[in-house]
Amino acid sequence: MKYSIAIHGGAGTISRRRFTPDKQIAYYQVLAQAIKTAENLLANGGTALAAVEAAVIILEDCPLFNAGKGAVFTNEGKHEMDASIMTGHDLQAGAIAFVHGVRNPIRLARAVMEQSEHVFLCGTGAEQFARKVGLPFEPESYFFTQDRYTQLLKAQKEDTIQLDHSENDSPKNDPLDKKHGTVGAVALDSYGNVAAATSTGGLTNKKFGRIGDSSIIGAGTYANNLSCAVSCTGYGEFYIRGVVAYDVSCLMEYKGLSLDDACQVVINDKQVKMGSDGGLIAVDAQGNVCLSYNSEGMYRAYKRHNSPLFVAVFDEELRID
Ligand code: ASP
Repeated sequence: MKYSIAIHGGAGTISRRRFTPDKQIAYYQVLAQAIKTAENLLANGGTALAAVEAAVIILEDCPLFNAGKGAVFTNEGKHEMDASIMTGHDLQAGAIAFVHGVRNPIRLARAVMEQSEHVFLCGTGAEQFARKVGLPFEPESYFFTQDRYTQLLKAQKEDTIQLDHSENDSPKNDPLDKKHGTVGAVALDSYGNVAAATSTGGLTNKKFGRIGDSSIIGAGTYANNLSCAVSCTGYGEFYIRGVVAYDVSCLMEYKGLSLDDACQVVINDKQVKMGSDGGLIAVDAQGNVCLSYNSEGMYRAYKRHNSPLFVAVFDEELRID
């Protein structure tokens, strides 16, 4: 059976200094678990949609990542979550933004796609819909992580908004042990269909109902069997302006670029020229995988039906023996 699955847990200026052996093991384990869960589905005839949702749920349930349980704090000390999902064989999509309390935002995005006549719901309406379809909610305390709260206090003091995973490596400037980012998954299933999913808490200290690229179809998430499936991570404003996920797909569909070349153009040329740092994961309809970033690192992993598990954060592969 031919299939591919790739995931990310955010990109940014990740500190090598604080990436201790204990942390390496913790990240490796959860990334590997997400890949294995998705692979198990794909190897047994599951769909790309089921695989990307299952992988993202595992990452949402893990406090190491800025999505679901580990979502960053807004300026008001809340957690406002964005997510989206898309299937490449029928161009169906579901997205949610500015949602509070939903345990697994990616499940809500899928429910919007499959159980509503809409594509994009936000705020209290999206929460009402989540209740209607019976999705679990959690109290604010479930989403509390001390590191991210400390991160908020620092961002408030400096009056900045920031990527969860970006940090200044100077011990003097950066006494915090900041955690990492947005999560996403892309897959090709044995039926030849691709799918993509992305979920995030957005930016620490965000205000005024700010919504990022992760919930925007074409910006943070896109899937089309004619080209590829893409999930992005980075400073969302650049990814919205660059319509990044759709741009990769367009370069393949209209210009005939390979997956690698299309990702290279978008991430290492166009996004760099715009001044953004971040990355994306993508899979094409042939099962090729591309994990592309222009930041210091990106939490990422992939597995193809005929290749060993690959897990990495920086340029070199992360191996845990
Ligand atoms: N792209 C996300 C946003 O801007 C943040 C991230 O990737 O960590 O909301």
